[in-house]
Amino acid sequence: MCAYFGIPDEEVVVAGEIPLQIWSELQQSAGPSITIVRNQSDPQLIEDGVVGITVEPLSDDVFKVSYRGFVSGQMAVTADGMEQLGKHLFEDRKPVPDWLLTDVESISDLPAFMPAEIELNPPVDCRECGATERAADVLTPGGGDPICEVCWQATH
Ligand SMILES: [Zn+2]
Repeated sequence: MCAYFGIPDEEVVVAGEIPLQIWSELQQSAGPSITIVRNQSDPQLIEDGVVGITVEPLSDDVFKVSYRGFVSGQMAVTADGMEQLGKHLFEDRKPVPDWLLTDVESISDLPAFMPAEIELNPPVDCRECGATERAADVLTPGGGDPICEVCWQATH
């Protein structure tokens, strides 16, 4: 069916066009949503995949996952499926992670499907000036070591 974001097919309740009636049944107990964004840190690379994923709990065991970018869509996913998504996107991260949460500062509790003990926006050092910046604020041209915006601007 889809196998997006590490979610096994059997954990996808509904994929693609979701009948309105199903959404209205599920949306009885909607909670706050979170948005996961691709950290587009390479200025020389145009991302052609999904750049944003919004996750909205519809019940204790069903989450609405909307994704957008080169491909867009939505699906309803079980809690187990969300745990796989969390592992897929947030475990074994690079020093400058590929995926970040938006509004990190305003999130008090990580959603249960996220791996515990991860740093959402880790500090990294600029390869040129050594300044410590947040992962969301550095560039990794060509997939190389991080460089801060100031040093990148100075050389380009
Ligand atoms: Zn720098």
